[in-house]
Amino acid sequence: MGARAGAGAGCRTVAGMRDPVADLRRIAFLLERANEGTFRVRAFRSAAAALAGVPVAEMAARASAGTLTDLAGVGDVTARCVAESLAGEQPVYLRRLESTAGVDLDGATAAVRATLRGDCHTHSDWSDGGSPIEEMAVAAVELGHEYLALTDHSPRLTVARGLTAARLRQQLDRVAAINRALPPGFRILTGIEVDILSDGSLDQEPELLAELDVVVASVHSGLNDDAGRMTRRMLKAIGNPLVDILGHCTGRRVPARRTGPDGSGDRGHRAGRTRPPSDFDAAAVFAACAAHGKAVEINSRPDRLDPPKRLLRQAVEAGCWFAIDSDAHAPGQLDWLRYGCERAARCGVDPARVVNTWPADHLVGWAAAHRG
Ligand SMILES: [Zn+2]
Ligand SMILES: [Zn+2]
Repeated sequence: MGARAGAGAGCRTVAGMRDPVADLRRIAFLLERANEGTFRVRAFRSAAAALAGVPVAEMAARASAGTLTDLAGVGDVTARCVAESLAGEQPVYLRRLESTAGVDLDGATAAVRATLRGDCHTHSDWSDGGSPIEEMAVAAVELGHEYLALTDHSPRLTVARGLTAARLRQQLDRVAAINRALPPGFRILTGIEVDILSDGSLDQEPELLAELDVVVASVHSGLNDDAGRMTRRMLKAIGNPLVDILGHCTGRRVPARRTGPDGSGDRGHRAGRTRPPSDFDAAAVFAACAAHGKAVEINSRPDRLDPPKRLLRQAVEAGCWFAIDSDAHAPGQLDWLRYGCERAARCGVDPARVVNTWPADHLVGWAAAHRG
């Protein structure tokens, strides 16, 4: 598991030719995985979408006539990639990305990664993600996932276009429809990343939360609360039977590594994106998670990597369950699970304590048991 998208997604051939749409999608995936901004990736996703319904013969005719760019969503760079693909060559843009993308996992990390069956924390363009639910799901299937919990934001996180109860209900219908069209053996789980409000209550209607497969609860506001107040907020949320997973517990933001398509890695602060961990009584919080059977999230985002290793080891000692989550906001970011797995391996997390090593039904049953 985990190798399929890496090995084959961009190389499918149609009648002996490369598949230009698959190549464009593969480029987008690799850019997202390299932590490129969504805007930079959009050209490739838009072009792939624009060309998905165009017969190969028409693409070839347009490529030789130089009229690919007449199609809405296809620009000069993407048209060049398509022409190279149609000529049977790996597009130069893709070749450069693939040559810098080969980040082999060390044995211990790969062993943890191999145990994961899905992802419990992801976003779509319904909130602040960059891609439609369908694209997230297809990428998850290609990564070998058995499930993907869709956990868009809750209403009061307006900067992230949090979903009102009405929109979340619409999303549930949409997910049901998409699930009917997905291959057997894979499903989207319904969910939410619900804000833990200043008094520790949750930012969504309880009846609606109770309907969801997975509820991740996270602090996004008042991160500077003093330790006493923050601890009370978190303990109240953890004790809420509607919560299954405590998301990115410290809320810290760290400088994210970024590897550009030219292979140059940089590790710099991006203005305004770093934040120190919030202050709380970790012993009390982890003890509560263990007592209530709730999972502590190992957030894999390169700009979060939360909890820090010292706290992660403390959570292991406390006997917590864990969820290794991507918190992906774009399809390629689903592959960030590797970073969480690396930290889990370093900090002695037993995969038997990781809830997304379970099959979907087991995971959903575990969550349902919290609701009593
Ligand atoms: Zn969050
Ligand atoms: Zn999130």
